[in-house]
Amino acid sequence: MSRKQKTYGICRLCGENKELTFEHVPPETVFNKGAVRNVSLDAIIKDTMKENKLPWEINYGKGKIQQRGRGGFYLCGDCNSCTGQWYVPEYSRFVHAIQGAMRQAGEQKYESLGLRIKSIRPLPILKQVMTMFCDINSGLMGDDSLKDYLLDKTSRSFNRDRYHLYAHIHAGALERMNGIMVQSTNFGIITLSEISTYPVGFTLYIDKPKNYKPEGVEITSFSEWDYGDESDVQIIIPKLECNTIFSGDYRTKGEITGSADGKAQIGEATTKG
Ligand SMILES: [Zn+2]
Repeated sequence: MSRKQKTYGICRLCGENKELTFEHVPPETVFNKGAVRNVSLDAIIKDTMKENKLPWEINYGKGKIQQRGRGGFYLCGDCNSCTGQWYVPEYSRFVHAIQGAMRQAGEQKYESLGLRIKSIRPLPILKQVMTMFCDINSGLMGDDSLKDYLLDKTSRSFNRDRYHLYAHIHAGALERMNGIMVQSTNFGIITLSEISTYPVGFTLYIDKPKNYKPEGVEITSFSEWDYGDESDVQIIIPKLECNTIFSGDYRTKGEITGSADGKAQIGEATTKG
């Protein structure tokens, strides 16, 4: 066996069977360089039930360590390098601006941070986030139009009825990279996928019920700009905690254990609202 074994498979953007290249998700430029431990959802659910522990009390020693950071063989070399050139630099600026504001806030307690980012291009940011959701979900999340949308950097045909994208400052005990999950709530069925890692998390809602108002700041409107358009972006981005494995669950540890105002029990897949 050669030391550099090639990986072949279906590229999650162009759909062709090609050699796949390693891609950092989130990109390497946004604090995704260190070793991470990958643990499957199944393993977490089993351990929480078996040991009767809270998610942050479990020792995840069994997970496989990935030395080069989070990511995987999702895209072919062409799709990886195009999206990397078109979208990652602006996305990286966006995340670094938020991280800069977090550093300024330091140890202060805050629920959200307001920031103004000068001359930034909103469309590539949104397209990078959508690329990451296509990376961790197979089959373009059941929407072939995303292929043209993401492989033509200037395309503006984004389905704003179907997709609602939210951002938050990541906090809490766990990082989450969750493919699409379906949850039943008082508002009806919520379909969502989430990538929440330090320092910023993103949640993508698909066909969100109209009256359901997720936590986080909505950035779907970033899709309304042209690729080259620059703008001063002003956002108030809330800090949300991830302490369970469930996407969209931002309860604090106190809310989960019942020692704070929230009375919900761990293990409930429903979101707040
Ligand atoms: Zn490809």
